[in-house]
Amino acid sequence: RSTQTFNLYNQRFNAGAKIPLGLKRKALRVLVTGGAGFVGSHLVDRLVERGDSVIVVDNFFTGRKENVMHHFSNPQFELIRHDVVEPLLLEVDQIYHLACPASPVHYKHNPIKTIKTNVVGTLNMLGLAKRVGARFLLSSTSEIYGDPLEHPQKESYWGNVNPIGVRSCYDEGKRTAETLTMDYHRGAGVEVRIARIFNTYGPRMCIDDGRVVSNFVAQALRKEPMTVYGDGKQTRSFQYVSDLVEGMMCLMESDYIGPFNLGNPGEFTMLELAKVVKEVIDHNARIEFRKNTEDDPHKRKPDISMAKSLLGWEPKVSLREGLPMMVEDFRQRVSFGIREVVK
Ligand code: NAD
Ligand code: UDP
Ligand code: UDP
Repeated sequence: RSTQTFNLYNQRFNAGAKIPLGLKRKALRVLVTGGAGFVGSHLVDRLVERGDSVIVVDNFFTGRKENVMHHFSNPQFELIRHDVVEPLLLEVDQIYHLACPASPVHYKHNPIKTIKTNVVGTLNMLGLAKRVGARFLLSSTSEIYGDPLEHPQKESYWGNVNPIGVRSCYDEGKRTAETLTMDYHRGAGVEVRIARIFNTYGPRMCIDDGRVVSNFVAQALRKEPMTVYGDGKQTRSFQYVSDLVEGMMCLMESDYIGPFNLGNPGEFTMLELAKVVKEVIDHNARIEFRKNTEDDPHKRKPDISMAKSLLGWEPKVSLREGLPMMVEDFRQRVSFGIREVVK
């Protein structure tokens, strides 16, 4: 494959890709790996709405057909059951690479599979991007900062990660995925984008995925005590899913590679989060303290000045506005007695 051939493909496939969101543009063929999952399915909704042809590739480890089945009658939409650890041949213009379990309970369930997904899966999708000249966006994570010694975290911070801990299949996996992404850019000229995503919540999260927002909401709705791990003074910053999707699309269409932090800087302790959930769902909800998990980061808050100034993006939905929108979806699913445990 000569560089020249690659460049030709690149120009053809990316024609129209730089037109700002909202203006009339050529429909693109977009691959969303992990598109049947929580974030992926919301991204798919926006891409379909924009008029793009969307292919979702998902192995349904944590994703669900229900998240995308409202598109089944649309000829511009296609769903493929496939594991990204295996090679894949498709012709597309853009790849949003999200395939990877995201909740600690899910990614620790089969850590070897998690790291294979992050390393081999990302390598395959980069190989695909290189072959067809597609633009590739990696959904990385704030977990690459580990238990951060810098607060809030800027993109220039290299992180404080335990390479042999129980979370490393995910955080070291994503760090390697970032490395691969940059090496395919530098070495093979692939157009890449890297998003470092901070804790995100919203409708369609797996009810029992063990993440703190889904746990507290489901527990409060089921009249079970909310389980606060450790002393509950650790912090996270919670972003509503529509803000994230907007940020990912802005980044994909921009001229910048990143990495960019995409998160909501509003920082809460777990005890404060429990208080907000109480206000929104049930003032009588109780709290129960549990032992914390290993290597749990003490604090996390994004510095988003880079995304603000270069992408013109910032989150719009506060926790108090976003939680009720998620609660409606959870209330329906909980009322059907749905429990979604790791397969
Ligand atoms: P999710 O578990 O709902 O979605 C992940 C999707 O990937 C699922 O549909 C799952 O079935 C699929 N998948 C997993 N392994 C696969 C494989 N080997 N082959 C094909 N499909 C596979 O999680 P999410 O919250 O939607 O996360 C999506 C992406 O965003 C992930 O890459 C995650 O690391 C990243 N991210 C999410 C958050 C967050 O708070 N939600 C934070 C940081 C990063
Ligand atoms: N790959 C893929 N689809 C493609 C092109 C490549 O899944 O359309 C996979 C390929 O099987 C390989 C990986 O991506 O495992 C990296 O591909 P690349 O061409 O960069 O490396 P090589 O095949 O030369 O090792
Ligand atoms: N957590 C908690 N109760 C729960 C689940 C999680 O207090 O039922 C805490 C957890 O210890 C961590 C924070 O909430 O400090 C965020 O955990 P989550 O699994 O949602 O995401 P991550 O650790 O990946 O940020």
